Amino acid sequence: MSKAQETVLEINLKALEHNYNYLKSKIKPNCKFLGVVKAYAYGSDSVRISQKLVDLGIDYLAVAYAEEGVTLRNAGIRVPILVLHSQIVSFDTIIERCLEPSIYSERILREFIISAEKHGQKDYPIHIKFNTGLNRLGFNESDIPKIIKILSETNAVKVLSIFSHLAASEDLNEKEFTENQIRSFNTIASQIEAALPYKPFKHLANTSGIINFPEAHLDMVRSGIGLYGFGNDDNEDSNFIPVATLKTNISQIHSLEPNESVGYNRAFTATEKIKTATLPLGHADGIGREYGNGKGVVRIHGQNAPIIGNTCMDMIMVDVTAIDCQEGDEVIVFGQDPTATKFAEGAKTISYELITGISQRVKRVFVD
Ligand SMILES: *Cc1c(COP(=O)(O)O)cnc(C)c1O
Repeated sequence: MSKAQETVLEINLKALEHNYNYLKSKIKPNCKFLGVVKAYAYGSDSVRISQKLVDLGIDYLAVAYAEEGVTLRNAGIRVPILVLHSQIVSFDTIIERCLEPSIYSERILREFIISAEKHGQKDYPIHIKFNTGLNRLGFNESDIPKIIKILSETNAVKVLSIFSHLAASEDLNEKEFTENQIRSFNTIASQIEAALPYKPFKHLANTSGIINFPEAHLDMVRSGIGLYGFGNDDNEDSNFIPVATLKTNISQIHSLEPNESVGYNRAFTATEKIKTATLPLGHADGIGREYGNGKGVVRIHGQNAPIIGNTCMDMIMVDVTAIDCQEGDEVIVFGQDPTATKFAEGAKTISYELITGISQRVKRVFVD
Protein backbone atom coordinates (compact mmCIF):
# COMPACT_ATOMS: atom_id res chain seq x y z
CA MET A 1 0.00 0.00 0.00
CA SER A 2 1.21 3.47 -0.89
CA LYS A 3 1.61 6.22 1.68
CA ALA A 4 -0.81 9.08 1.23
CA GLN A 5 0.72 12.52 0.63
CA GLU A 6 -2.78 13.93 0.18
CA THR A 7 -6.33 12.68 0.60
CA VAL A 8 -6.87 9.68 -1.66
CA LEU A 9 -9.39 6.92 -2.06
CA GLU A 10 -7.33 3.84 -2.71
CA ILE A 11 -9.19 1.25 -4.80
CA ASN A 12 -7.89 -2.29 -4.42
CA LEU A 13 -8.87 -4.28 -7.50
CA LYS A 14 -7.49 -7.49 -5.97
CA ALA A 15 -10.02 -7.08 -3.17
CA LEU A 16 -12.72 -6.72 -5.83
CA GLU A 17 -11.55 -9.98 -7.39
CA HIS A 18 -11.65 -11.71 -3.99
CA ASN A 19 -15.20 -10.49 -3.30
CA TYR A 20 -16.38 -11.48 -6.77
CA ASN A 21 -14.93 -14.97 -6.38
CA TYR A 22 -16.47 -15.34 -2.93
CA LEU A 23 -19.93 -14.36 -4.19
CA LYS A 24 -19.51 -16.61 -7.25
CA SER A 25 -18.75 -19.51 -4.91
CA LYS A 26 -22.23 -19.04 -3.41
CA ILE A 27 -24.11 -19.44 -6.69
CA LYS A 28 -24.52 -22.27 -9.18
CA PRO A 29 -22.20 -22.23 -12.22
CA ASN A 30 -25.10 -21.58 -14.61
CA CYS A 31 -26.41 -18.63 -12.59
CA LYS A 32 -25.45 -15.34 -14.21
CA PHE A 33 -23.79 -12.55 -12.25
CA LEU A 34 -24.67 -8.86 -12.59
CA GLY A 35 -22.32 -6.32 -11.04
CA VAL A 36 -24.03 -3.15 -9.83
CA VAL A 37 -21.77 -0.20 -10.70
CA LYS A 38 -24.22 2.66 -10.16
CA ALA A 39 -23.15 5.86 -8.38
CA TYR A 40 -19.49 5.67 -9.55
CA ALA A 41 -19.39 2.01 -8.55
CA TYR A 42 -20.49 2.83 -5.02
CA GLY A 43 -18.22 5.84 -4.85
CA SER A 44 -15.09 4.19 -6.26
CA ASP A 45 -14.65 4.41 -10.05
CA SER A 46 -17.20 2.88 -12.37
CA VAL A 47 -14.88 2.48 -15.38
CA ARG A 48 -11.98 0.78 -13.59
CA ILE A 49 -14.31 -1.41 -11.55
CA SER A 50 -16.31 -2.39 -14.65
CA GLN A 51 -13.16 -3.15 -16.65
CA LYS A 52 -11.95 -5.42 -13.87
CA LEU A 53 -15.34 -7.13 -13.62
CA VAL A 54 -15.35 -7.70 -17.37
CA ASP A 55 -11.87 -9.26 -17.09
CA LEU A 56 -13.22 -11.51 -14.35
CA GLY A 57 -16.04 -12.67 -16.64
CA ILE A 58 -19.04 -10.71 -15.38
CA ASP A 59 -22.23 -11.34 -17.41
CA TYR A 60 -24.04 -8.06 -16.82
CA LEU A 61 -23.54 -4.62 -15.34
CA ALA A 62 -26.17 -2.27 -13.93
CA VAL A 63 -26.29 1.47 -13.45
CA ALA A 64 -29.09 3.63 -12.08
CA TYR A 65 -29.26 6.19 -14.90
CA ALA A 66 -28.48 6.13 -18.62
CA GLU A 67 -25.63 8.67 -18.43
CA GLU A 68 -23.76 6.31 -16.12
CA GLY A 69 -24.06 3.66 -18.82
CA VAL A 70 -22.82 6.11 -21.47
CA THR A 71 -19.64 6.62 -19.41
CA LEU A 72 -19.06 2.87 -19.52
CA ARG A 73 -19.78 2.59 -23.25
CA ASN A 74 -17.38 5.52 -23.92
CA ALA A 75 -14.72 3.57 -22.02
CA GLY A 76 -15.22 0.59 -24.34
CA ILE A 77 -17.27 -1.61 -22.01
CA ARG A 78 -19.30 -3.97 -24.22
CA VAL A 79 -21.17 -6.27 -21.85
CA PRO A 80 -24.93 -5.76 -21.46
CA ILE A 81 -25.79 -2.84 -19.16
CA LEU A 82 -29.11 -2.68 -17.33
CA VAL A 83 -30.38 0.84 -16.51
CA LEU A 84 -32.24 0.34 -13.24
CA HIS A 85 -34.05 3.66 -13.02
CA SER A 86 -34.55 4.63 -16.65
CA GLN A 87 -36.06 8.04 -17.33
CA ILE A 88 -38.13 8.95 -20.37
CA VAL A 89 -35.76 11.78 -21.40
CA SER A 90 -32.94 9.28 -21.79
CA PHE A 91 -34.68 6.67 -23.95
CA ASP A 92 -32.94 7.90 -27.14
CA THR A 93 -29.58 7.64 -25.39
CA ILE A 94 -30.45 4.18 -24.08
CA ILE A 95 -31.20 2.91 -27.58
CA GLU A 96 -28.28 4.70 -29.27
CA ARG A 97 -25.78 3.29 -26.76
CA CYS A 98 -27.30 -0.21 -26.55
CA LEU A 99 -28.28 0.07 -22.91
CA GLU A 100 -31.14 -2.03 -21.55
CA PRO A 101 -33.90 -0.28 -19.62
CA SER A 102 -35.70 -1.46 -16.53
CA ILE A 103 -39.38 -0.94 -17.31
CA TYR A 104 -41.24 -0.35 -14.10
CA SER A 105 -44.60 1.23 -14.96
CA GLU A 106 -47.19 1.45 -17.71
CA ARG A 107 -46.12 5.01 -18.52
CA ILE A 108 -42.50 3.92 -18.94
CA LEU A 109 -43.48 0.86 -20.99
CA ARG A 110 -45.65 2.84 -23.42
CA GLU A 111 -43.07 5.61 -23.82
CA PHE A 112 -40.23 3.17 -24.36
CA ILE A 113 -42.17 1.34 -27.05
CA ILE A 114 -42.75 4.67 -28.84
CA SER A 115 -38.99 5.36 -28.70
CA ALA A 116 -38.06 1.87 -29.87
CA GLU A 117 -40.51 2.11 -32.78
CA LYS A 118 -39.20 5.57 -33.70
CA HIS A 119 -35.69 4.10 -33.84
CA GLY A 120 -36.93 1.24 -36.05
CA GLN A 121 -36.09 -1.36 -33.44
CA LYS A 122 -37.28 -4.94 -33.40
CA ASP A 123 -37.10 -7.05 -30.21
CA TYR A 124 -35.19 -4.34 -28.30
CA PRO A 125 -34.23 -5.94 -24.96
CA ILE A 126 -36.16 -4.66 -21.95
CA HIS A 127 -36.34 -5.85 -18.35
CA ILE A 128 -39.67 -5.70 -16.57
CA LYS A 129 -39.48 -4.84 -12.92
CA PHE A 130 -42.10 -6.00 -10.44
CA ASN A 131 -42.89 -4.66 -7.01
CA THR A 132 -43.12 -7.48 -4.47
CA GLY A 133 -43.13 -5.44 -1.28
CA LEU A 134 -40.43 -2.78 -1.43
CA ASN A 135 -43.03 -0.36 -2.80
CA ARG A 136 -40.44 1.71 -4.59
CA LEU A 137 -40.43 0.92 -8.32
CA GLY A 138 -42.20 -1.75 -10.27
CA PHE A 139 -45.42 -3.14 -11.68
CA ASN A 140 -47.75 -5.01 -9.38
CA GLU A 141 -48.94 -8.54 -10.07
CA SER A 142 -52.36 -7.19 -11.05
CA ASP A 143 -50.74 -5.25 -13.92
CA ILE A 144 -49.74 -8.44 -15.77
CA PRO A 145 -52.74 -8.64 -18.16
CA LYS A 146 -52.21 -5.00 -19.15
CA ILE A 147 -48.47 -5.53 -19.70
CA ILE A 148 -49.14 -8.58 -21.86
CA LYS A 149 -51.73 -6.69 -23.92
CA ILE A 150 -49.39 -3.74 -24.53
CA LEU A 151 -46.55 -6.08 -25.50
CA SER A 152 -48.78 -8.02 -27.88
CA GLU A 153 -49.36 -4.87 -29.92
CA THR A 154 -45.71 -4.29 -30.83
CA ASN A 155 -42.63 -6.19 -31.94
CA ALA A 156 -40.29 -3.30 -31.15
CA VAL A 157 -39.38 -4.68 -27.73
CA LYS A 158 -38.76 -8.06 -26.18
CA VAL A 159 -38.79 -8.92 -22.48
CA LEU A 160 -35.30 -10.28 -21.88
CA SER A 161 -35.81 -10.65 -18.16
CA ILE A 162 -38.21 -10.01 -15.32
CA PHE A 163 -37.01 -9.03 -11.87
CA SER A 164 -37.85 -7.67 -8.47
CA HIS A 165 -35.88 -6.31 -5.52
CA LEU A 166 -35.76 -7.55 -1.93
CA ALA A 167 -36.53 -5.09 0.86
CA ALA A 168 -34.82 -6.68 3.85
CA SER A 169 -32.62 -9.55 2.70
CA GLU A 170 -29.89 -8.59 5.21
CA ASP A 171 -32.29 -8.81 8.15
CA LEU A 172 -33.11 -12.35 9.27
CA ASN A 173 -35.82 -10.99 11.59
CA GLU A 174 -37.64 -10.22 8.35
CA LYS A 175 -37.10 -13.70 6.91
CA GLU A 176 -40.81 -14.31 6.52
CA PHE A 177 -41.28 -11.05 4.63
CA THR A 178 -38.44 -11.96 2.26
CA GLU A 179 -39.83 -15.46 1.75
CA ASN A 180 -43.16 -13.87 0.84
CA GLN A 181 -41.39 -11.65 -1.68
CA ILE A 182 -39.70 -14.69 -3.23
CA ARG A 183 -43.03 -16.57 -3.39
CA SER A 184 -44.79 -13.56 -4.84
CA PHE A 185 -42.10 -13.14 -7.51
CA ASN A 186 -42.31 -16.83 -8.46
CA THR A 187 -46.08 -16.48 -8.88
CA ILE A 188 -45.59 -13.44 -11.10
CA ALA A 189 -42.93 -15.27 -13.11
CA SER A 190 -45.16 -18.25 -13.82
CA GLN A 191 -47.95 -15.97 -15.04
CA ILE A 192 -45.55 -14.10 -17.32
CA GLU A 193 -44.09 -17.34 -18.64
CA ALA A 194 -47.56 -18.67 -19.40
CA ALA A 195 -48.57 -15.49 -21.23
CA LEU A 196 -45.51 -14.74 -23.35
CA PRO A 197 -44.48 -16.82 -26.39
CA TYR A 198 -40.89 -16.90 -25.08
CA LYS A 199 -39.25 -17.29 -21.65
CA PRO A 200 -37.54 -14.28 -20.02
CA PHE A 201 -34.82 -14.99 -17.46
CA LYS A 202 -35.42 -14.11 -13.80
CA HIS A 203 -33.50 -12.31 -11.09
CA LEU A 204 -34.22 -11.15 -7.57
CA ALA A 205 -31.27 -11.37 -5.17
CA ASN A 206 -28.98 -8.52 -4.15
CA THR A 207 -25.83 -9.15 -2.08
CA SER A 208 -27.62 -10.20 1.09
CA GLY A 209 -30.08 -12.20 -0.99
CA ILE A 210 -27.11 -14.14 -2.42
CA ILE A 211 -25.83 -14.86 1.09
CA ASN A 212 -29.07 -15.55 2.93
CA PHE A 213 -31.55 -16.83 0.35
CA PRO A 214 -30.13 -19.42 -2.08
CA GLU A 215 -33.68 -20.10 -3.32
CA ALA A 216 -33.73 -16.51 -4.64
CA HIS A 217 -30.70 -16.90 -6.91
CA LEU A 218 -32.83 -17.93 -9.92
CA ASP A 219 -31.14 -17.23 -13.31
CA MET A 220 -29.01 -14.25 -12.24
CA VAL A 221 -27.96 -12.42 -9.07
CA ARG A 222 -27.25 -8.69 -8.72
CA SER A 223 -24.51 -7.64 -6.35
CA GLY A 224 -23.29 -4.20 -5.43
CA ILE A 225 -22.17 -3.80 -1.82
CA GLY A 226 -20.67 -7.29 -1.63
CA LEU A 227 -18.37 -6.60 -4.57
CA TYR A 228 -17.12 -3.54 -2.72
CA GLY A 229 -16.40 -5.62 0.37
CA PHE A 230 -19.36 -5.56 2.73
CA GLY A 231 -21.50 -8.49 3.84
CA ASN A 232 -24.11 -6.43 5.74
CA ASP A 233 -23.47 -8.66 8.74
CA ASP A 234 -20.68 -8.86 11.32
CA ASN A 235 -19.97 -12.51 10.57
CA GLU A 236 -20.24 -12.21 6.80
CA ASP A 237 -18.02 -9.12 6.68
CA SER A 238 -14.99 -11.31 7.43
CA ASN A 239 -15.48 -13.12 4.11
CA PHE A 240 -15.10 -9.88 2.17
CA ILE A 241 -12.28 -7.37 1.72
CA PRO A 242 -13.19 -3.68 1.50
CA VAL A 243 -12.18 -2.35 -1.91
CA ALA A 244 -11.88 1.33 -0.94
CA THR A 245 -9.57 2.85 1.65
CA LEU A 246 -9.87 6.54 2.41
CA LYS A 247 -6.53 7.81 3.58
CA THR A 248 -5.00 11.19 4.16
CA ASN A 249 -2.16 12.78 6.12
CA ILE A 250 -1.64 15.31 8.89
CA SER A 251 -1.39 18.89 7.57
CA GLN A 252 -0.57 20.55 10.87
CA ILE A 253 -0.34 19.79 14.58
CA HIS A 254 -1.43 22.28 17.27
CA SER A 255 -0.88 22.28 21.01
CA LEU A 256 -3.80 23.80 22.88
CA GLU A 257 -4.10 25.15 26.38
CA PRO A 258 -7.22 24.65 28.54
CA ASN A 259 -10.13 26.89 27.43
CA GLU A 260 -8.87 27.24 23.88
CA SER A 261 -11.45 26.19 21.31
CA VAL A 262 -11.23 24.31 18.02
CA GLY A 263 -12.92 25.18 14.74
CA TYR A 264 -16.06 27.02 13.68
CA ASN A 265 -18.62 28.08 16.26
CA ARG A 266 -16.08 27.03 18.90
CA ALA A 267 -17.89 23.72 19.09
CA PHE A 268 -15.06 22.14 21.07
CA THR A 269 -13.25 23.70 24.03
CA ALA A 270 -10.23 22.06 25.62
CA THR A 271 -10.52 21.31 29.34
CA GLU A 272 -6.86 20.34 29.58
CA LYS A 273 -3.73 20.61 27.47
CA ILE A 274 -4.31 18.74 24.22
CA LYS A 275 -2.68 18.13 20.86
CA THR A 276 -4.75 18.33 17.70
CA ALA A 277 -4.07 17.38 14.08
CA THR A 278 -5.69 19.14 11.13
CA LEU A 279 -6.50 16.87 8.17
CA PRO A 280 -7.16 17.90 4.53
CA LEU A 281 -10.61 16.35 4.36
CA GLY A 282 -14.02 17.84 5.07
CA HIS A 283 -17.71 17.80 4.30
CA ALA A 284 -17.00 18.72 0.67
CA ASP A 285 -15.16 15.40 0.42
CA GLY A 286 -18.02 13.42 1.90
CA ILE A 287 -17.23 13.45 5.61
CA GLY A 288 -20.33 15.37 6.68
CA ARG A 289 -21.12 17.40 9.76
CA GLU A 290 -22.69 14.33 11.36
CA TYR A 291 -19.15 12.98 11.87
CA GLY A 292 -18.09 16.02 13.87
CA ASN A 293 -17.85 16.30 17.64
CA GLY A 294 -16.52 12.83 18.32
CA LYS A 295 -18.87 10.84 16.10
CA GLY A 296 -16.19 10.01 13.55
CA VAL A 297 -12.97 8.36 14.67
CA VAL A 298 -9.95 8.06 12.34
CA ARG A 299 -6.87 5.87 12.82
CA ILE A 300 -3.29 7.17 13.08
CA HIS A 301 -0.46 4.67 13.67
CA GLY A 302 -3.14 2.17 14.65
CA GLN A 303 -4.60 4.43 17.33
CA ASN A 304 -7.99 6.14 17.49
CA ALA A 305 -8.21 9.87 16.89
CA PRO A 306 -11.74 11.28 17.31
CA ILE A 307 -12.87 14.26 15.26
CA ILE A 308 -13.25 17.27 17.52
CA GLY A 309 -15.45 20.28 16.85
CA ASN A 310 -17.45 20.80 13.68
CA THR A 311 -16.48 19.35 10.34
CA CYS A 312 -15.30 22.15 8.03
CA MET A 313 -15.72 22.17 4.26
CA ASP A 314 -12.12 21.18 3.54
CA MET A 315 -10.75 20.11 6.92
CA ILE A 316 -11.35 18.19 10.10
CA MET A 317 -9.45 18.41 13.33
CA VAL A 318 -8.77 15.29 15.38
CA ASP A 319 -7.51 14.75 18.91
CA VAL A 320 -4.02 13.23 18.84
CA THR A 321 -3.03 14.01 22.44
CA ALA A 322 -2.23 10.36 23.14
CA ILE A 323 -0.66 9.58 19.77
CA ASP A 324 3.01 9.90 18.92
CA CYS A 325 2.64 11.48 15.47
CA GLN A 326 4.02 14.19 13.23
CA GLU A 327 2.92 16.45 10.42
CA GLY A 328 2.82 14.43 7.19
CA ASP A 329 1.99 11.15 8.94
CA GLU A 330 -0.60 8.90 7.37
CA VAL A 331 -4.21 8.81 8.57
CA ILE A 332 -6.72 6.06 7.75
CA VAL A 333 -10.33 7.25 7.74
CA PHE A 334 -11.80 3.90 6.71
CA GLY A 335 -10.68 0.79 4.88
CA GLN A 336 -9.79 -2.56 6.42
CA ASP A 337 -9.64 -1.08 9.93
CA PRO A 338 -11.80 0.73 10.74
CA THR A 339 -14.16 -0.50 8.02
CA ALA A 340 -16.58 1.92 6.41
CA THR A 341 -19.34 0.08 8.28
CA LYS A 342 -17.64 0.83 11.60
CA PHE A 343 -16.79 4.44 10.73
CA ALA A 344 -20.36 5.06 9.51
CA GLU A 345 -21.84 3.64 12.71
CA GLY A 346 -20.46 6.62 14.64
CA ALA A 347 -22.80 8.86 12.67
CA LYS A 348 -25.66 6.33 12.78
CA THR A 349 -25.46 5.62 9.07
CA ILE A 350 -24.39 2.71 6.88
CA SER A 351 -21.46 1.80 4.62
CA TYR A 352 -23.57 2.40 1.48
CA GLU A 353 -24.08 6.08 2.33
CA LEU A 354 -20.52 6.72 3.47
CA ILE A 355 -18.74 5.16 0.48
CA THR A 356 -21.06 6.54 -2.21
CA GLY A 357 -20.70 10.00 -0.69
CA ILE A 358 -16.93 10.38 -1.11
CA SER A 359 -16.88 13.27 -3.53
CA GLN A 360 -15.18 13.42 -6.89
CA ARG A 361 -12.63 15.88 -5.48
CA VAL A 362 -10.88 12.99 -3.73
CA LYS A 363 -8.31 11.47 -6.06
CA ARG A 364 -8.84 7.78 -6.83
CA VAL A 365 -5.68 5.68 -6.90
CA PHE A 366 -5.63 2.03 -7.91
CA VAL A 367 -3.87 -1.07 -6.62
CA ASP A 368 -3.99 -4.28 -8.68
C1 LIG B 1 -28.61 -1.13 -5.90
C2 LIG B 1 -29.35 -2.33 -6.32
C3 LIG B 1 -28.79 -3.62 -6.16
C4 LIG B 1 -27.52 -3.89 -5.38
O1 LIG B 1 -27.81 -4.10 -4.02
P1 LIG B 1 -26.67 -4.46 -2.98
O2 LIG B 1 -27.36 -4.55 -1.68
O3 LIG B 1 -25.69 -3.32 -3.03
O4 LIG B 1 -26.05 -5.74 -3.43
C5 LIG B 1 -29.48 -4.70 -6.72
N1 LIG B 1 -30.65 -4.51 -7.36
C6 LIG B 1 -31.22 -3.30 -7.49
C7 LIG B 1 -32.53 -3.18 -8.18
C8 LIG B 1 -30.61 -2.17 -6.97
O5 LIG B 1 -31.18 -0.97 -7.08
